[in-house]
Amino acid sequence: MLFDIEPAPRLVGIAKLASESARLDAKSQVEYLEITARSVLNRCKPGMPFRWTINPYRGCEFGCKYCYARYTHEFMEREVAEFDSRIYAKAAVAEILKRELPKISKREAIALGTATDPYQPAERRFGRTRAILEVFGYERGWHLSITTKSDLIQRDIALLTGIARANVLDVNVTITTLKADLARMLEPRAPRPDLRLATVKKLAEAGLCVGVFPNPILPLITDRDRDLDRLAKAAKEAGARYFGGGVLFLMPSAQKVFFPFLRERFPHLAQRYQERYKKSPYLRGEYTEELRTRVRRIRERYGLASAPVEYRPEMWEDERQGELFPLD
Ligand code: SF4
Repeated sequence: MLFDIEPAPRLVGIAKLASESARLDAKSQVEYLEITARSVLNRCKPGMPFRWTINPYRGCEFGCKYCYARYTHEFMEREVAEFDSRIYAKAAVAEILKRELPKISKREAIALGTATDPYQPAERRFGRTRAILEVFGYERGWHLSITTKSDLIQRDIALLTGIARANVLDVNVTITTLKADLARMLEPRAPRPDLRLATVKKLAEAGLCVGVFPNPILPLITDRDRDLDRLAKAAKEAGARYFGGGVLFLMPSAQKVFFPFLRERFPHLAQRYQERYKKSPYLRGEYTEELRTRVRRIRERYGLASAPVEYRPEMWEDERQGELFPLD
């Protein structure tokens, strides 16, 4: 059933598009809408390990309490609390991507799933991530990465291995904790940690370059040495090649959900977090340095890299080859 929502007169840009979105479906308090996308590739600021991002959805049903991407709903004049209950699937993503790819350089890396999980439940029904990956199935020479918490990525293993034969492809599986109860609390609708680990194993067995990100590491909640060590060990045993971790980054939009959550579930920590994140969404100083050292030691213990290691796919052809040996 499709119907249009009346646009509010003062809305402009992405907020206007959001207000005009057609409903795709609604189930268990989650509403799915389709939003017109002006572009699929979004340029990000320098300093990131990638230049372009692709997010096939806006909002994410997994509903992680710490999610930094809630601000993307504020852009659309929506409440941050709706980030996990009002999911927008971008329309015509494959067509737009095919138009945009020839305009950018293959030397600039593309990251899929930076502000929403590309394999959240909506993907099972609307297949926007799959549509994007199918475009890359005909491409070569790109540097791609996918970040997910979902075992649904296993559905696309055959497609991903095809892409990885002609493009550099890294898959980052996020596992913040191996404790199922804690994960359920922090990431209410994301797959259990054991399912994510099993996914790492499947991806690695398929020959894909896969790593585990324990991000974000939450001070005094998921940062114990023993827990991070256990996680790195399990990641290694599952076939992960890298393990990169960083401390929680908490933008004001994320604080609106995370602080009430702390007050309810970790009341003894609420004030400390509020004090530490009051001035800046970044945590700096001794704790961060010490955590970085601890993660490095743990990584070294299991022979894991800190980030994906560059490799050359069997059908690789980079841009410079094209320049050196032009076809006409
Ligand atoms: S999976 Fe990622 S994008 Fe989705 S809610 Fe969690 S942190 Fe946010």
